[in-house]
Amino acid sequence: MPANSFPDWSAVRCVLLDLDGTLLDLAFDNHLWNEAVPARFARRRGLSLEAARAELAPRFHAVAHTLPWYDLDHWTRQTGIDMAALHQELRPRVRVLDGSLAFLDAVRASGRPLWLTTNAHPDSWRPKLEQTGLAHYFERIVSSNDLQAPKEDRRYWQGLEERHDMVASECLFADDSRPVLEAARAFGVGQIVAMNHPDSTRPPRPFSDFYSVPRLHHLLPVPPLQLRPRGSA
Ligand SMILES: [Mg+2]
Repeated sequence: MPANSFPDWSAVRCVLLDLDGTLLDLAFDNHLWNEAVPARFARRRGLSLEAARAELAPRFHAVAHTLPWYDLDHWTRQTGIDMAALHQELRPRVRVLDGSLAFLDAVRASGRPLWLTTNAHPDSWRPKLEQTGLAHYFERIVSSNDLQAPKEDRRYWQGLEERHDMVASECLFADDSRPVLEAARAFGVGQIVAMNHPDSTRPPRPFSDFYSVPRLHHLLPVPPLQLRPRGSA
């Protein structure tokens, strides 16, 4: 499809959704990583908050958009903070973005399977799904931890096709991360939607080269899936 057009639902057999910033408010993750983690790291090390941030920033930067960036075990080792326990402690702050439930219901009613495609570590996505009750919507949950490659990496998409009998060109995929969206486009995911307002407490982020919406319900209505043989026009 042209880069900036509304999705062609007639070409969509399966819907792949990101979790944080797409279905859920990224304010949770921004609070956890930008406020809670530096504050606890500062306390553990006897540092000022500024010094803690200065020590953590290059460690985050060094692995940005690679598997360790998303690996909570890596950050537990790096900081001495139990990241799984921190997610459990803060999970009452997890919020579903407006419009997400309406979209999930509409996709399911259309007859299309929903898959959760996330870079979140299991100790992150599990408490979020438990808190929000969203797990029952998803036929599959495919995390980068399972495929040992983040969504920014072509190997994630290859793994998704090979291990899950999925055809990327027949999927709609929504995500809020530019490097992820670019990787999905490069691999050949059929319909791509950029989420331009992932954190409700911050301003929207424009995308000029992807079709973008602030909330998933802007993709409604979802017409019923018309089954037809693969490869036919
Ligand atoms: Mg995201």
